[in-house]
Parts: sequence; C-alpha cells; structure tokens
Amino acid sequence: MVEWHRAFFFPRVATALQSVSGTAVSTMGEVGAVFLVLLSIVALLVRRARSIGSLILALGAIVFTFYLSWGFAYAYPPVSGRLAPLPRSDDRASAARLVELAERSARLAGRASEGSVSFAGSDAEFLARINAGLEAGFGQWPASLEASPIRGVIFGPAKASRVSFALTRLQISGFYFPWTGEAQIDTEMPRTLWARVGAHEKSHQRGFARENEAALIGLITCLSSPDPTVFYEGSLGLFVGFDREMARLDPEARRRIWGGLNPRVVDALRLEAAFWKAHEGVAGKVSEKVNDTYLKAQGVRSGIESYAETTRLILQAVETPGLAVGRLLSAETPAPEVTATPAAPIR
Ligand SMILES: [Zn+2]
Repeated sequence: MVEWHRAFFFPRVATALQSVSGTAVSTMGEVGAVFLVLLSIVALLVRRARSIGSLILALGAIVFTFYLSWGFAYAYPPVSGRLAPLPRSDDRASAARLVELAERSARLAGRASEGSVSFAGSDAEFLARINAGLEAGFGQWPASLEASPIRGVIFGPAKASRVSFALTRLQISGFYFPWTGEAQIDTEMPRTLWARVGAHEKSHQRGFARENEAALIGLITCLSSPDPTVFYEGSLGLFVGFDREMARLDPEARRRIWGGLNPRVVDALRLEAAFWKAHEGVAGKVSEKVNDTYLKAQGVRSGIESYAETTRLILQAVETPGLAVGRLLSAETPAPEVTATPAAPIR
C-alpha cells in the first residue's frame, strides 16, 4: 500500500494539486480552512444537534484525504538509506570530526556572506527571487535521492502565509498544507530565513514528510542553488545544524568557532534568535506541544526531537558523493573553487 502510494499515487496527487494551487500566487488552503471552520460554526449554531452527524462525516473526510494526499509519506523508506552510511568510529573521533565540519561550515558561511547576497526588494519581489533560486537548486541534486518519483511535476512556489502574524506568535516559521499541496512561510521573520524555511516546506511538497528529512533536503537544495542569497541561507542553515550539536558536545570548541565567525553571519543569526525570542509566550509553548503530539501520532517516535536528528543526516550527506554539501566542506576542494560556487543570480 505504502509503495503503491509512493510510486504511483503520490506523483499523481502532486500533479493534480499543483496544477490547481501551483499557479495561484497567494495561499488557497488557508482560505479554504477558514471557510470550513466558519461553515462548521454556522452549522452548529443553526442546526445544533442535527449537524453533529454531518460534521463527524466531514471530519472523517478530512482525515481520510490527509492520509491519501500526504499522511502515507511518513511511512516511505527513510532517506538515510539512500545516503552513504556513516563510517564507523569511536566517540572521540566522531566528536573531532563534528568540530572540524562545524569549523568548515563557519568558514563556508563567512565566504557565502561575502558573495553578491541581496535581501532587497518588496516581500513579493524577494520571495519570487528566492523561489527561482530554490527551483534551480531542486534540479541540481540527484533524482535517486527523491522520496517519490516526482521529477516531472511542476511545483508551486513557497507562498507568503496570510496568517504570518499568528505564525510568529506560535513560533512557526512555515508549514505545509497537504490538502492543497501548498508550502507557506511566515513573512514576518528575518529574510535570512525565507529561503531556508521555503526549501524545507517545498521538500514536504515532494513527499519528504519527516521533519529531519525535509530539513536536510532543504539545506541540500539551498546549497545547490546558483542564487548567492539562497546559497548563503543554506550555508547559515548548515552552520546552525552543526552548531546545535556543538552546544551539546563541545561548548569550548563552539565558543572558539563563534569567536572567528564572520560578523555578518553573527549579525544574521543574532537577529533570527532575537526575532523568535521577542515573540515567545504561552501560544508558542502550546504550539510546540501540539506539533510534538502531531509528529508522534504520525509515528515519528521522538516527536520534535527529530529536528535534531538532522545533524546525523547532514553527516551522511557529507559522505555521499554527488551532493554539494560534501564538496563544499571537503578538505580536498581548493578554496577558490568553493568561493566561485555561487554563480550569477537568477532574476
Ligand atoms: Zn516541516
């Protein structure tokens, strides 16, 4: 059933959904969801108990179409099986390796920040530019990595959420709406997050359901993009991925790396942290709990913890031939070539 869904059904659902929602610039799913909620409230007020039956039926239809359009993707074979296995090593060797990669990712982010990075333009202009850069990035990594055979499908862009103000307060950077196949991002957050979050949500579009997998594929996509801004955002995301583990494993080395970090990178990451910190509150706590419960219900055992498992996937990706991330972080690559990676921006 899962294999039928992955290989046959999902690509067809994606084609159908994208042909409807992909061409609309603004979000359709959010409007539909609000309409359904209002309709349910009206039904409850007007028809009272008589409407309960049809509401339960509607709820069943929503759950059923969730699994049909998306839910099964949580059972697809893990992407880790399509990446190179991690070489066997003891704790000390793997910790040393992590420090080394964190240092290299810090230098990569520094170099990327000095490219022709631009956060200029209106929200719509910037988002369009980011989407073009992401689209180019998605075509750059091997199809053998895909969760489902969807290379022929034309996917809609990452869109600005109409409820960004609420997402900010709920500490949600973006979300995927499976019933319409739409990826939307919180456009209140700093622009250094837009491509990273957009890439993550657009990975969900392609059948990468698990959070850590969408995070990895999003990073690979940004780092494969010829757009310098998208590439820079990818390098920030990569650094953050290692940095999280560094905080746990080697705070001393972490302080050293931060000390040598390019000031532009430091500023960007400080701004991002300050943004989320400024909007912390009860709503965010509740939202985190709900998301955790949701992930556990989908069989993602560690719930929100699965976000941190991304680091292990990144380490595997570094070892996988043919992926930008390994090339960019490998010692063998001469520095000038790495600097030249972000080519002319796509407008
Ligand atoms: Zn996600």
